[in-house]
Amino acid sequence: MALELVTIPCLADNYAYLIHDPVSGRTAVVDVPETAPILRELTFREWTLSDIFLTHHHDDHILGVAELRRITGARVWGAGADRHRLPRLDEVLGAGDEINFGTDTGIVIDVPGHTLGHIAFYFAKAGLAFTGDSLMAGGCGRLFEGGPDQMWATLTKLAALPPETLICSGHEYTASNLRFAASIEPENPAIMARIMRVAKARAEGRATVPSRLMGELQTNPFLRAGEPAVKAAVGLDDAADAVVFAELRARKDRF
Ligand code: ZN
Ligand code: FE
Repeated sequence: MALELVTIPCLADNYAYLIHDPVSGRTAVVDVPETAPILRELTFREWTLSDIFLTHHHDDHILGVAELRRITGARVWGAGADRHRLPRLDEVLGAGDEINFGTDTGIVIDVPGHTLGHIAFYFAKAGLAFTGDSLMAGGCGRLFEGGPDQMWATLTKLAALPPETLICSGHEYTASNLRFAASIEPENPAIMARIMRVAKARAEGRATVPSRLMGELQTNPFLRAGEPAVKAAVGLDDAADAVVFAELRARKDRF
């Protein structure tokens, strides 16, 4: 039996995720923008929270941690590199660490760029990657701390996961991300089709995350910096992929 995944909208446009191992009963939340919707979901499913996994230190991902920890007694896991600016950690993580989680194992991937200490959690059996504000649906996080080379290396690493992996990212930014994608590749049919699907989902109040890595590879401009059509679109036909990525990220910041 694979891990169960629940996507929880929080605050204005954040997401938290619950993962539950039905065999061991272990239940974790990835990021805690606020507590109420998470507690409601735990009560509804009669799950007991055992762990809190943190992707990065930004307020909108950690605001509810102290309260949720107090109420549930769950253990808090986060990047050792950022322990000075994360809520109190019970378990300190670094790149390549493995977290035994019932029938599955979470692998910690270093994903700097949005922030320097940003980590992602990859569960291979379940095919789930919790990417926070690194790789996002149709886009990637802003470069608040890292440089474009760092984020490009991060995205390249995530792009190498199995294509059927579900990318569980931190925000509902998909519609605006895809508007930018279409501005770069107006003739990419996969982007046009995704824009329609996303508009329908949002009109029906549904989340557009998680998203399949396969679909990201076809539509997310930041994963497509190596594509000749994308290079040509930004007038950098012969540039290195990382240079094209830097240009795309700069253009998105102004978009
Ligand atoms: Zn952030
Ligand atoms: Fe965020």
